Amino acid sequence: MTTHDDVAYRVRERVLDMGATPNGAHIGGSLSCADILTVLYRDVLRVRPEQPEWPDRDRFVLSKGHASAALYAVLAEFGFLPEEELATYGAYGSRLAGHPLRRLPGVEFPTGSLGHGLSLAAGAALAARRTGGRARAFALLGDGELQEGSVWEAAMFAGHQGLANLVAIVDRNGLQITGSTEECVGLEPLADRWRSFGWSVIQVDGHDPEALREHLTALPAERGRPTVLLARTVKGKGVPMFEDKKKSHSVQLTRRLHKRALFGLRKVTV
Ligand SMILES: [Mg+2]
Repeated sequence: MTTHDDVAYRVRERVLDMGATPNGAHIGGSLSCADILTVLYRDVLRVRPEQPEWPDRDRFVLSKGHASAALYAVLAEFGFLPEEELATYGAYGSRLAGHPLRRLPGVEFPTGSLGHGLSLAAGAALAARRTGGRARAFALLGDGELQEGSVWEAAMFAGHQGLANLVAIVDRNGLQITGSTEECVGLEPLADRWRSFGWSVIQVDGHDPEALREHLTALPAERGRPTVLLARTVKGKGVPMFEDKKKSHSVQLTRRLHKRALFGLRKVTV
């Protein structure tokens, strides 16, 4: 059986390949959420690649839409699209745009304009509850994204509604495009803030597949409340030259850098 490490390694490798396409990719934030996405698609989400519009499927929303390279790599890994299509990333006319498009199987909503994904997921969760469906909704947010006021509007709504079938995962890598989140607009005390909006809060190592799996397969964490996982991660995780560096946010890898990044990835994770 394919292990988590095998899958996450291939996802990171493909992220680097997409970073070497002419327009580059958001490498740092894609690498930081690679383990989270792998656990979600491998162990948690009830989805059917061969029937992507199955009505009772779980809805996954990549609210940090700029991390599309990681999402595409995972969708290819789990059979939503052919692996060869990854080579079209960012090209004119490709289904694999810099930010996700609805026309790609497995993408529920177009995202990338930050701050909207949690509202979309909350709507999907409420719709499932009202229609008696089994679907759950998951949204993956960046931590810099939490500075958008609309995130907290959605958090307030979900807490008020008691949407136990809604899960937010925060990729808490501590960095955003311009630097540290705490220097830009501080988020702490983050757990207390989510709790005050009526959410159940779990703090977890976002690179520990066992811990992620344990929490994400025991949902909701509390009856009648939405759950948020604050997942501690490292931006650029897996590639030493990018780890914890804000310069990894958006990169176009030259051939030489691509080779160097792949070499570093092998040294760290194999
Ligand atoms: Mg961040």
